[in-house]
Amino acid sequence: DFEQTPPACLITATAPIATATHGGRAKCLQRLVRLDLPVPRTVALSFDAVHSIAEGQMPDLDVVLSEFDHEALLCVRPSSEDPDWGGPGAILNIGMNDARYVDLCDSLGREAAAALYLRFVQSYAVHVARLDPDVFDDVEDGGPDALSEILHAYEAETDEPFPQDPSEQLAAVLRSMARAWEGTSARLLRQAKGAPADAGLGLVVQEMIPGVGQGECGSGVLQLVNSTTGMPQLTGRYLSQSQGRDALGAGAKALYLGKDARGLSLEELAPEAFADLKAHAALMRVKLREEMQLEFVVENGRVHILDGVRVTRSAQAAVRIAVALAEDGVISKEEALMRVDAHILNELLHRQVAPDAKRDVIGRGIAASPGAATGKLVFTAAGAQASAARGEPCILVRRETSPEDVRGMHAAAGVLTEKGGMTSHAAVIGRGLGLPCIVGASNMKFHSKRKMLEAADGRVFKPGDTITIDGSSGQVLAGQPQMLEAAEDGALLTLLTWADEARDIGIRANADTPEDAEMARKFNAQGIGLCRTEHMFFEPGRLTVMREMIFAETPSGRAAVLERLLPMQRDDFRELFRIMEGMPVCIRLFDPPLHEFLPATKTGQRELSEALGIPVSDVTRRVEEMDEYNPMLGLRGVRLGVTVPEIYDMQARAIFEATLEASKWGEPVVPEIMIPLVSAKREVELVKARIDAVAAAVKFERGEDFTYRLGVMVETPRAALRAGEISPHTAFLSFGTNDLTQMTYGLSRDDAGRFMSQYVNQGVFPEDPFHVLDTDGVGELLKLGVRRGREENGAITLSICGEHGGNPESIAFCRDAGFDYVSCSPFRVPVARLAAAQLAI
Ligand code: PEP
Ligand code: MG
Repeated sequence: DFEQTPPACLITATAPIATATHGGRAKCLQRLVRLDLPVPRTVALSFDAVHSIAEGQMPDLDVVLSEFDHEALLCVRPSSEDPDWGGPGAILNIGMNDARYVDLCDSLGREAAAALYLRFVQSYAVHVARLDPDVFDDVEDGGPDALSEILHAYEAETDEPFPQDPSEQLAAVLRSMARAWEGTSARLLRQAKGAPADAGLGLVVQEMIPGVGQGECGSGVLQLVNSTTGMPQLTGRYLSQSQGRDALGAGAKALYLGKDARGLSLEELAPEAFADLKAHAALMRVKLREEMQLEFVVENGRVHILDGVRVTRSAQAAVRIAVALAEDGVISKEEALMRVDAHILNELLHRQVAPDAKRDVIGRGIAASPGAATGKLVFTAAGAQASAARGEPCILVRRETSPEDVRGMHAAAGVLTEKGGMTSHAAVIGRGLGLPCIVGASNMKFHSKRKMLEAADGRVFKPGDTITIDGSSGQVLAGQPQMLEAAEDGALLTLLTWADEARDIGIRANADTPEDAEMARKFNAQGIGLCRTEHMFFEPGRLTVMREMIFAETPSGRAAVLERLLPMQRDDFRELFRIMEGMPVCIRLFDPPLHEFLPATKTGQRELSEALGIPVSDVTRRVEEMDEYNPMLGLRGVRLGVTVPEIYDMQARAIFEATLEASKWGEPVVPEIMIPLVSAKREVELVKARIDAVAAAVKFERGEDFTYRLGVMVETPRAALRAGEISPHTAFLSFGTNDLTQMTYGLSRDDAGRFMSQYVNQGVFPEDPFHVLDTDGVGELLKLGVRRGREENGAITLSICGEHGGNPESIAFCRDAGFDYVSCSPFRVPVARLAAAQLAI
């Protein structure tokens, strides 16, 4: 291929220039040349050529120099494959020497000529001769006197006069830039940005248009959109008598480009140049099919385009720009969908700490639910509720959360826990509520009893102190940094509508309450894929009834209490059916161990004894009886359904009665009922028989008919392995990858946060498997379950409802594995919709 990529070649419309051989800047310049834009003559050096230069082999520079007018000054700029990988800084005004200086004093004036020479000597000294920049500290700014001082300083430091031969200067510049790219720190830096170990560097040698001299001269940048909002807005900077990126310098008194100028605008100084510039920018947008920032020079009122780079953009701007390009017919809808990274939608839908805000980091943990929140510290759920009642935003701090904290979480602006991982209670509830949440902040000390939070650096925070949690990065911050508001806008809605047209896998939401369901509708989920019914029992009025049910000694006593829970559950379900308007609603029967509903503290137990009118000792005894060494693997899920069947009977009845009521308003509702934690076929048979009996009873009592779909949650490894014998009994299998991951690894989802970051840092796990599906291990079980399940029941619906359902990488796996839909927290539905569309395109 070497013949095809000459070491150095003039950029013309037909030159063999490619991003993969000469880098992105060279390729972009060729595109601009093809558009007939006024681009200065440029020679591109290939990756191979630059690599040889670093190794000590200089190509014949006379060939390069022969492409330029011998009067011309040159600049060299880096051209890596991906501009994000960086590269050595540009060096301007190569070719300046004493003789050129004298000539230029005549044509440009002494000041301008001196400024050009000075800039070159200074950057040559620092970047090529590697002198300490301090050497020039004493040199006065600018002007001819400074020039002779700096030339003397150079000679004094190097014992050589400043090189005068342009060819020698160019060779030295090329060599230093080529070697800078090969240096260890540069290599590590770009690898951290995703560059491969052998990433190449191209260089472009371009004729300088000086930007200083007679008439209106200067340099600047221009773009057609605002980088933060993505809205059309001519923005940029221009500085008369300047070069390079001077116009962007902090101290530069830049003139504004637009009409609303406070000083003199470029439009006033050089109206033709300004008009040309706008026309060039508009042409580049259409022909390069991207919003570009133009780097330009004005020379005596005429404009030259030195370069174009992709406009930097916030998440919000990325969406707006992609949608606007597609709406203008510049790119297709599919391309617009592909251009937006699905992960960034998480940022868009939540408040964020402003990118340039100062961060006083006092601790860090797992970024469990995105978005940032500021509030006063509270240490109890009750404290959070009191704070909300006062209208004061608060951050709820707990060692870990339990169902008892849910109401406090509702009241808080954000949640911070010492323990836990990506699928622990606080994390799951936080994501469900769209509430910023950090878990497993194990480098902070939580003195819960003393109501103190101790930062990693020893600072102590007490109730009422203001902190901020950044659930997107996992950082805990002192005080109240500046925030960027969530930006759900029309462009996002448009993009997601296009995503729905393109994708070929269903997206449902995990929603437990009417509020969640409203959110699911708002984000256009196609139904509810998981309603965790136990969350409905934590309403204050219900918790006591629930506890009473747990304390019932006999099945009939229990049934009597359940009678009181029945209408409450029925209303919950009817409300969900009403909100979802005929879309599928998948209700999971009761899952957690019962003791989660009992008070753990002595005070709580005393209060319960008063509420139920029984001795405290009875309460304590019952709590102790129900205590389990390993509750995640104890009496919960279907095991409760088999051994305490009255609970599931009540839930089934509530579902069926709600079905009949909701069906009166519209299309008949077909509820989906899901059995959790199954590990054996017989469990399904037993539960199914009872649910069928309840259905028959309700139909008989009401004299009305309905159908329902019964399904099984595959969340134990055995259920995946035995999917073949389970599937004939069910209409659907929904893979609960939270528990499946926990049980496949033997890794507690509530405790893994303590060591997860170390495990990931040391490469034991490539990622937190509770966050990104472990396709090698857990994924094998999924594939096996899918195959065996489908083989024995071709009509079965397959889905995933663990937290992985909202993760783009995991959605790709599910689509390949043949799942019909994924279900995730409502706030992750937009991410899932976009990610799914990108997979289908
Ligand atoms: C699961 O285990 O994947 C699941 C969805 O259920 P939960 O998170 O409620 O245990
Ligand atoms: Mg589970």
